[in-house]
Amino acid sequence: MLKFLLPLKVLNLKAFRTFGVALTPARLSPAHLSPAHLTPARGSLPLPINYTVSVTNRCNARCKTCNIWRLYDDCDEEQPALRRSGSRLELSAGEFARIFESVGKSAYWVTLSGGEPFLRSDLVEIYDALARHCSPNIVNIPTNATAPRLVERRVRELLEVKNKTKKGKSDLILNLSLDGVGSLHDEIRGVAGNFEKFVATYERLTALKQDFENPRLRVGVHTVVSNFNLDRLEEIYEFVQGLNPKPDSHIFEVAEERVELGTVGSGVTPDYRSFAAAFAPLRERIKRDYLKDPEADFLARVTQAFRLEYYRLLEKVLTERRQPIPCYAGFASCQISAYGDVWACCVRAEPLGNLRAGTADYDFAWVWRSRKADEIRASVRRGECCCPLANAAYTSMLCDFSALRRVLGRVVR
Ligand code: SF4
Ligand code: SF4
Repeated sequence: MLKFLLPLKVLNLKAFRTFGVALTPARLSPAHLSPAHLTPARGSLPLPINYTVSVTNRCNARCKTCNIWRLYDDCDEEQPALRRSGSRLELSAGEFARIFESVGKSAYWVTLSGGEPFLRSDLVEIYDALARHCSPNIVNIPTNATAPRLVERRVRELLEVKNKTKKGKSDLILNLSLDGVGSLHDEIRGVAGNFEKFVATYERLTALKQDFENPRLRVGVHTVVSNFNLDRLEEIYEFVQGLNPKPDSHIFEVAEERVELGTVGSGVTPDYRSFAAAFAPLRERIKRDYLKDPEADFLARVTQAFRLEYYRLLEKVLTERRQPIPCYAGFASCQISAYGDVWACCVRAEPLGNLRAGTADYDFAWVWRSRKADEIRASVRRGECCCPLANAAYTSMLCDFSALRRVLGRVVR
């Protein structure tokens, strides 16, 4: 139990520190934790705890739910010259290192995302700089699992780097995308044979755990729920449950219309009624398989309780079109784009500033505390946007006592 609660406590304390809220019983109420009450002077505004760092926008998949791959004409070769969008060159490993140095130890949880992150030949160098400067407790890397051997080789290198640093005990999480079983996955992802490659990547990564002493490597599965697979969710769930060994996690995230992915107006997000109808049996299965099963591992139960809370919030967002709990994007979480823009989140993708700009000079804090950043935070605080983005939602849940209470209630019930 302590294994889970300790990081949670640390994360909450970081959250409190982030917003300068004194941890006294009198303040432990959801009202006191609302971003509306968290307005420290800009100069002293602490840095976020959750960073999503987009290491590239290149992608070799052609997903129906995402248009990011359209930014580049040809993604088959690992040539820096291809890492361009218009005249914008993606950040180099050296530039990432300067940014991480300015971020320092504020980062608890970092996602190295894409595009397809494994298309960066210098991914290990970027990870090394992150581990040295920031020492995050969790590093999460998603992959479209189209290159099993390459992914295995790079993850082996990442584990070697991780185990050399003092953060050897931090968690490295690899999340493999799976949107359907068999040909449906290939169809949605636009890659022939992607399903077989998913299976091969999964087998290689889970086998890697045997090669390292205490690798702290977690291998999860990530499913994007869209109008293309809404009627096949149970089949996907069954398939993932049947994997041997079982994955460390399986998350369903709804396809959102994001500025980052070029999907605004694309209609990929299912409507509430269809989503709720398709998802209801799945929620029951999760409850039965984890929360009501006395044999279930405690950590898995807590994780699934968080998942259920996220799915509850998801349904509320889709029906009510408002933030069901205050969103902490721009406060506790943020994203750094492959071109150095800092965003509160990838759904709005509104630059708080650019880290390459002469005035910023790769200083994350400078951009984070800028006037523009304050304006965007004020807009988030006023609830001028809402979305089902999972990454931001999990951070918001960890900062929100009403959500935490519901999660723990599910675990002890
Ligand atoms: S969803 Fe991921 S794998 Fe698919 S095109 Fe977009 S970045 Fe690539
Ligand atoms: S509610 Fe969604 S769109 Fe608005 S700031 Fe939060 S994550 Fe971004």
